[in-house]
Amino acid sequence: MRSDNFISPKRFSHIYLEESAKDHPKTTEILSKFPNSHVIPIDSYKEVFNPSSQNFQTQKRSPKLILAKRKEQFLYSGSGVAPDFGYQFFYYNALVLNCLYNCSYCYLQGMYSSANLVVFVNNEDYIRETAEQLKLSKPLYLCISYDTDLLALENTLGYCKEWIEFANIHPDLIVELRTKSANFKSIARLKPTSNIILAWTLSPESVIAEHEPLTPRLSSRLKNIKEALEAGWQVRLCLDPILNVPKWKSIYSDFISRIFEQIPGDKLREISLGVFRMNSDYFKNSKKRRPDSYLFYLPMETHSFVKSYPEELEKEMFAHVEKELESFVSKEKIHRLVASEMQSI
Ligand code: SF4
Repeated sequence: MRSDNFISPKRFSHIYLEESAKDHPKTTEILSKFPNSHVIPIDSYKEVFNPSSQNFQTQKRSPKLILAKRKEQFLYSGSGVAPDFGYQFFYYNALVLNCLYNCSYCYLQGMYSSANLVVFVNNEDYIRETAEQLKLSKPLYLCISYDTDLLALENTLGYCKEWIEFANIHPDLIVELRTKSANFKSIARLKPTSNIILAWTLSPESVIAEHEPLTPRLSSRLKNIKEALEAGWQVRLCLDPILNVPKWKSIYSDFISRIFEQIPGDKLREISLGVFRMNSDYFKNSKKRRPDSYLFYLPMETHSFVKSYPEELEKEMFAHVEKELESFVSKEKIHRLVASEMQSI
């Protein structure tokens, strides 16, 4: 099923509810949206989420929701495989573990044994910890949609709104909200905030169809981006990962032309580019779990525990994509994330 906003009240047949989260107001709010789900009490989310004998792809067919309360670690220092865009104080958080989508190249299938979705209901503790860190580290760059797609979940969780309102009164906080969703409408009524970056990951339509099942079509994402730009939001395009699919040159050339038929390049904050890359342990696990995907069998090199395409191919891909982009945006707005210069976590 492909939809812009597919979290129907029937979405989760079962919801596991951690004891410590049962009286939280966000739990009540979320449960009210799934009146038909069976609610199963548990002591800790880890008893359902952590066992290693689970089958990630089988669970993806019907993922369950787990509501829990985060007790510690509300901020992580930035990962070496993600871009920091030049900010010295680069953090991310994990409000949700796992994603509703199921991209064939996703590192989450190599990182977690379960495809169930863990939602930590105590967002206020994440916000409090970030406010504390801001007293020590300014400007602070924070990715809030890191191991998930928070905008895709906005109708259920409302977390994007809470962070946008927080960022509104903390100009030294720069928040990246990364998404493949077409759910801009869920935040469209909010005041655009210059220190919130809406970062849309885009891929060619044929790549979406083959490798990003369940995500919205390119046309829906472009429509959302156009609306966000017109409303005055900061928008970053992420052409990441660029994949070594057959005929990649012509596919990515057509894709870039298609983007700029609709999007005014001068209005974009920036464009970030990265080819496929993954922590080598996650790669090994993902390859086992996705025997159906040829992406894990393409030629790769490993640098500092990061698997990626051979350097020559990466350079060729960047050069080709940048050349195409430069017809529409100034060179200064294009950022390369070079796999061989990254450190894995
Ligand atoms: S949208 Fe991102 S996090 Fe979600 S499945 Fe795809 S690659 Fe993974």
